[in-house]
Amino acid sequence: MRSDGTKVGLWQPVSSGRHAFGVAARQSEPGCATEALCGAEVDTDELQQVADELAWIRGNTCMECWKILAARDGTTSAKSS
Ligand SMILES: [Zn+2]
Repeated sequence: MRSDGTKVGLWQPVSSGRHAFGVAARQSEPGCATEALCGAEVDTDELQQVADELAWIRGNTCMECWKILAARDGTTSAKSS
């Protein structure tokens, strides 16, 4: 995993749950696979589509991604606006 100063990425509900991705994942080529922070592979198509509200509600937050982000951030400030 590269540490290029990229901070917290984005959360996105996909079929396997709600994973966190690096910011760069959004710019990946459609049709490719992108890795979530936990290592889960997700189709970029799925990542880039706008998830509906139910996906957010139903999706289980991936605790692996959560832990990675929490460890990376080092603080409890989870502001992402
Ligand atoms: Zn994950």
